[in-house]
Amino acid sequence: MKEPSTPPADVTFDSLGLEAPLVEAIRALGYEEPTPIQQAALPPLLAGKDLLGIAATGTGKTAAFALPLLQHLTPGSRGPFTASALVLVPTRELAMQVAEAIHRYGQKLGVSVLPLYGGQVIGQQLRVLKRGVDVVVATPGRALDHLQRKTLKLEEVRTVVLDEADEMLDMGFAEDLEAILSATPEERQTALFSATLPPRIAAIAERHLREPVRVRIAREKVEPGELPRIRQTAYIVPRAFKVATLCRVLDVESPTAAIVFCRTRTEVDELTVSLNGRGWRAQALHGGMSQEQRDRVIKQLKSHTTDLLVATDVAARGLDIPRLSHVVNFDVPNAPEAYVHRIGRTGRAGREGVAITLVEPREHRLLRNLEKLTGQRIEMAAVPTVADLRARHLELTRASLREVLVAGGLDPFRSVVEDLAAEFDVMDVAAAAVKSLQESRDDGRGGDEEEIPVVAPPTEKRSRFEKPDRKGPAERPGKKAGFAERPGRAEHGPRRRAERPDWDITRLYIGAGRNAGMRPADLVGAIAGEAGLEASQIGAIQIADAFSLVEVPEPAADRIITALRQATLRGRKVPVRRDRG
Ligand code: AMP
Repeated sequence: MKEPSTPPADVTFDSLGLEAPLVEAIRALGYEEPTPIQQAALPPLLAGKDLLGIAATGTGKTAAFALPLLQHLTPGSRGPFTASALVLVPTRELAMQVAEAIHRYGQKLGVSVLPLYGGQVIGQQLRVLKRGVDVVVATPGRALDHLQRKTLKLEEVRTVVLDEADEMLDMGFAEDLEAILSATPEERQTALFSATLPPRIAAIAERHLREPVRVRIAREKVEPGELPRIRQTAYIVPRAFKVATLCRVLDVESPTAAIVFCRTRTEVDELTVSLNGRGWRAQALHGGMSQEQRDRVIKQLKSHTTDLLVATDVAARGLDIPRLSHVVNFDVPNAPEAYVHRIGRTGRAGREGVAITLVEPREHRLLRNLEKLTGQRIEMAAVPTVADLRARHLELTRASLREVLVAGGLDPFRSVVEDLAAEFDVMDVAAAAVKSLQESRDDGRGGDEEEIPVVAPPTEKRSRFEKPDRKGPAERPGKKAGFAERPGRAEHGPRRRAERPDWDITRLYIGAGRNAGMRPADLVGAIAGEAGLEASQIGAIQIADAFSLVEVPEPAADRIITALRQATLRGRKVPVRRDRG
């Protein structure tokens, strides 16, 4: 099997055979270089070959299959109820995510993409299908439904992708896959992606792929001693809470000099703005900057006029960056080697370095790959709570007061204390001074009281935010529309972090609160798990003694109320309704 390593700096999307409009689309998204799986998979897929790719979520596999699929398409050349390409995925979340990614890559080409999954209003799907679609991204259950109703015809399909094939098999979709594949033309191109290669996947590949090129992400072990002593910690956190988590972790860790790595240029720019808005002195470092600009920000880091650099791998490569107290991976890198390279920048002479990684629930598999690669443990930690943060701030205030006390030179200030002591208790005077110092310390970085949901490390199979949509009640056609079924969602383009959601918010009343042991995580878990929402779609949560309030997208409110009424929360059934204020 071909095992790609980190791409040399000169491997570009053009050099892999991608045509200009797609290269442009990728550049606009801020991708600076192809990931290893893209480097290995693009040439054979562009050449029309079948492919067996062993790669987990987070490696850039979606672009690896989506870009060739788009390059082979002639947008709009299809009849009613037909599709030119079919991507099968295990869950509705992935269907939405992959459809959105394909839409972003193919937007300029005028490509139409339709996600099909259980729980959507069938009428809307039918209207779109009737016009014909370039790319259908579907869960197997829903694809088969449409196939049997003859509302999806696969005779004209040129490309089929089986994404996360091992998950699809684990979820019992084997027969559905066989039925769907047999409805597609023999001469189609097929790509199969799977995080693992158990015999059942090998058997499917054997049956349905023609002389496939096999690629997988290399997992060459790092030699012992190659990495300095590094404390490696990971936080599993939904995407919507990443910036808040990062700020809280940085606050607790108080790095003296740190780099926060992102995957794309766009992320670097957005995160730099967010961090500055939250009181950090952060500078961007990416491939779109001139050498002079890059040298300048490195100098600023060295002279401590900036706290943080926010960088892409490409931009940081080859630069003389001083040893850092902390390296933060805002995203798990697409290439495992990049992780080793990034964290190797921390760990100063004799002192342990710190590497922090934020992991989205779907990407947990990548962590295990990294542990295998480095032979070192990555500790899973709970995101610091607001109380942890306050305790940490007080600790810092105490430490700086101690320094001032030791340094002396307090005489000019004694008269203030003496004046106040005539009126107040001396202890109160001192406490007021501490309070005022504490508040000025929090200034700019304060206000971070947002509750961040606690996400338990997902089980091997699937995170709790991902529900199979097969044969669930939501699969039945004609069900009331929920948020997830918002028509044309994929056509709205990427949802940007930090943007206000573009749907109305409804507040739900849940008749159990702190006295019943309710925590935000219980509500997030129940809503995500029982009603199939993504955690990022859940808004503010307030927990009072006897009840809780949670903001949810209005279009999904009825579905969530029904689901929560049937579920148990903290071990019991609880009343759930729209909040009447
Ligand atoms: P995937 O493994 O397909 O789920 O992709 C994981 C993430 O990596 C997504 O957020 C992509 O937008 C991002 N990504 C994919 N390819 C690249 C690339 N070449 N450079 C930077 N980011 C990428």
